[in-house]
Amino acid sequence: AMAHSEALLVLENFIGGKFVPCSSYIDSYNPSTGGVYCRVPDSGKEEVEAAVKAAKDAFPIWSSKSPLERSQILNKLADLIEHDLEAFAQAESKDQGKTIMFARTVDIPRAAYNFRFFASSILHHTTECTEMANMGCVHYTSRVPVGVAGLISPWNLPLYLLTWKIAPAIACGNTVVAKPSEMTSVTAWMMCKLLEKAGVPHGVVNVVFGTGAKAGEALVCHPDVPLISFTGSTLTAQRITEKSAPHCKRLSLELGGKNPAIIFDDADLTPCILTTLRSSFANQGEICLCTSRIFVQKGIYSEFLRRFVAEAKKWKVGNPSDPAVDMGALISKEHLEKVRSYVKKAQAEGARVLCGEGVDPLTLPAVNQKGYFMLPTVIAEVKDESCCMQEEIFGPVTCVVAFDTEEEVIKRANSVKYGLAATVWSSNVGRVHRVAQRLQSGLVWTNCWLVRDLNLPFGGMKASGIGREGAKDSYEFFTEVKTITIKH
Ligand code: NAD
Repeated sequence: AMAHSEALLVLENFIGGKFVPCSSYIDSYNPSTGGVYCRVPDSGKEEVEAAVKAAKDAFPIWSSKSPLERSQILNKLADLIEHDLEAFAQAESKDQGKTIMFARTVDIPRAAYNFRFFASSILHHTTECTEMANMGCVHYTSRVPVGVAGLISPWNLPLYLLTWKIAPAIACGNTVVAKPSEMTSVTAWMMCKLLEKAGVPHGVVNVVFGTGAKAGEALVCHPDVPLISFTGSTLTAQRITEKSAPHCKRLSLELGGKNPAIIFDDADLTPCILTTLRSSFANQGEICLCTSRIFVQKGIYSEFLRRFVAEAKKWKVGNPSDPAVDMGALISKEHLEKVRSYVKKAQAEGARVLCGEGVDPLTLPAVNQKGYFMLPTVIAEVKDESCCMQEEIFGPVTCVVAFDTEEEVIKRANSVKYGLAATVWSSNVGRVHRVAQRLQSGLVWTNCWLVRDLNLPFGGMKASGIGREGAKDSYEFFTEVKTITIKH
């Protein structure tokens, strides 16, 4: 038999166009087996220093290329990712625990599309111009890339979210140092292998692997990185804000959510139930946009609950590489324990667990016995003040509660610290519009979920973030604007 260490993937940092080994490594696990999948560089100040230097050196040439030249390179990179789609999807599923189906249809196609999207949108920006005829003046704005961008991403949608930052950053002419999550580094490393072939000059994209506390913080604290784009938890964002404050860095923060679904008694229940199942449990509930508080109007509450639970019980949990499986493994043992502890707390408070964790049996294939799995879990009769209704759980757990009036449900939906995404279900267009206007939420989906037009702003209110990403928003974030006045 092959020795375990021989099969182990060992990643290297990608700095100045070259793969470079690191002096120490950390283990990264396959969540569906509990075994070590690969070894990830445990980078720190030294590695970040080298990467920032490479990015600084590459900046003059890259920033002076025309948008069209950069656009062609981004399109080429998109082609190369699409060409290797299956290999990327397999790696993402193994590294993260998500189903192969989700990686194949969501993560990797979107990663490629991120490059294609910004390759196109960078060609279509115009700047502003105003005239003061009485003064003989014309004013216009000019936008230039900022410099070296620091990009930090989480483990739930690894390549998808990392490329959502790399693509606009380099399209605008910046060079980057990216730090993916230490738990899901493989697809970023695979992407580095394609950069040269795509025509990305050395040093334009550098990737340092490692933990947040060491590699991430070294990047945040580096004086030559004027801009940090971060997606992750609210707690980490607070730390990043503090650490970057002495340097007055420009920050974009995409953070957690506690997203409500509001279901009125005139909603079309069949699509509503199927979509709300997806919005609760897709990617094991590990999407910042996942629904975790479902408010159902009194008249349809018991019917909704009965049908929703019956459908949730049909979800198949198992080996992520099985295309028939709906839900894979959670990211880590610690995370699984944390998610389970919320279910226990709810039970201790008197809530009812209607299906899933602790209620239904979970049977797994032999190879997955040590994986980090749990069933889709539905909890009812939870108080609004309960931690299950207030804190982000980030797993396959959703709470269902009843409400009476529009006024009441808006107030309750808004009574959390987060404000990322909401869904509203009703066939009354006036009501849908009124409710959407009053929800404290960066995104409101009515009668649907996760339908995105990348042109428009994405981001959260309150503790869910600062700033927005999208065609125009990312362009503005990744460039500096100057106002120039000409007098004749
Ligand atoms: P996390 O905050 O623990 O980690 C995110 C990244 O930050 C990782 O790369 C990590 O290594 C790094 N990091 C950690 N500490 C750091 C520090 N002190 N300095 C610099 N970097 C540091 O988040 P996570 O657990 O990886 O991801 C889950 C969270 O991300 C959830 O809260 C989820 O809602 C959020 N999320 C938000 C969005 C969004 O667009 N709003 C999208 C996906 C995930």
